[in-house]
Amino acid sequence: MSVSCSHCSLPVPAGLVEADSELQFCCNGCRVAYEVIHEHGLDRYYDIRARVDAPQQPASSSGKASAPTAARLGKSSRSTSCRRWG
Ligand SMILES: [Zn+2]
Repeated sequence: MSVSCSHCSLPVPAGLVEADSELQFCCNGCRVAYEVIHEHGLDRYYDIRARVDAPQQPASSSGKASAPTAARLGKSSRSTSCRRWG
């Protein structure tokens, strides 16, 4: 069972997991960053980050999906080149 950092979402090393705490941090830097963000009422950072993170996964998988797109482009360019050469 892995615990993820409340700030950066990286796995928290077993030695740093606080059993009683709702908040878990992978390092002191994340703890301080989290505290500063909350102190200044910037909690929206986490909402925004969640939204920004979400499209990143499809984007990285669309790197693989670009192959069919390239094939489609290849088709269309072939048809135009046929016209050119025909
Ligand atoms: Zn962290």
